[in-house]
Amino acid sequence: MLRKKEIPGFKGGFNLLDTYPLRFFNIIEKVSSDTTPGIFEFPPATQKIEHVVVNLCPTEPWALPNWAIFGHRVNVFFNKLKEIRDRFFPAVQYCIALNNKDIETIAAARNFAGSEERVRVFPLDAKYPQDDSVVLSKVVLGVDINFGQEAMSRGIFIMDAQTVSAIYDSCISGNKVDSRFIAVSGTGLKENELVQVQLGTPVEKVLSDRVIEGGKYRVFLNGPLRGKEITDLSYRVNWTINNIVVLREQDYKVMFPLFKSEELMFTTNVHGEVRRCVYCNFCDNICPVDLEPALYYHSYQRGERHKARLYNLERCIECGLCSFVCPSKLELLKIIRECK
Ligand code: SF4
Ligand code: SF4
Repeated sequence: MLRKKEIPGFKGGFNLLDTYPLRFFNIIEKVSSDTTPGIFEFPPATQKIEHVVVNLCPTEPWALPNWAIFGHRVNVFFNKLKEIRDRFFPAVQYCIALNNKDIETIAAARNFAGSEERVRVFPLDAKYPQDDSVVLSKVVLGVDINFGQEAMSRGIFIMDAQTVSAIYDSCISGNKVDSRFIAVSGTGLKENELVQVQLGTPVEKVLSDRVIEGGKYRVFLNGPLRGKEITDLSYRVNWTINNIVVLREQDYKVMFPLFKSEELMFTTNVHGEVRRCVYCNFCDNICPVDLEPALYYHSYQRGERHKARLYNLERCIECGLCSFVCPSKLELLKIIRECK
């Protein structure tokens, strides 16, 4: 395995899993709507696939945990993976990325790999955004892909646990896959739950009866850091949605945010708390690809957003960590996207 110092550009990110441990209390089956459900499809590869990366290393606490797919049968999962490999990718390199604390799955993955040289197991430090496709491709394969570039265009097929399961069910077992598990969590909800959702169901239906009544809240698909916020809750769930996070809106100011003990607490205080850059360098220190996000902010403030390009803007992987840690609640990622 590559060591951190050997990985150009990866400074280590942030361990969200330890900082914000989340528990999911219920597994709900099944939320559906009266629309025709979407169907999972495994599209034929348009490029030659040379590497398959099985990403079993989620780094966000609100992401769907692997156990929702494995149940207590991790070996069954690897048997499915073996059948997929034999059927669809018999001659390619396999990389399996795992959380280095997940001892049971690492053992099962090593058993799956056996003595085959073309299967490699990577127990990783599960700091966010270790599982981002740009970072992961670099770490496990040493391949540079650019943000926004399809990994497939470099011959790399990345799949998570749920995709493995869906490929097996639809292409090997011959079942129709018209739903997926989604992790639903956040301060705006009564409970954190795993919900099996029929594809095509509006987000509104998924959240109905789950949101705490009587307050404003914000809804994010695929996490508040790198996901997208939606205001139109008629948006329909599709296969790309892994999780929905609902955060209660808080619009009060906090005195001396640099010194408050919960400065990394999740808030949505963008309206109530936004203030000037205080040159703390938190954003520079945490950026996983060695950028200096405050420079983008200052270029933007001066009305010189075109100058952001001078500071390697194109290397930003839009992980959102800089916005997340900024004590002034500056929406750095939003600014970065505008500069791009
Ligand atoms: S979003 Fe911010 S922290 Fe993440 S890569 Fe871009 S500049 Fe760095
Ligand atoms: S984290 Fe925020 S306040 Fe601190 S230097 Fe970066 S932009 Fe400025």
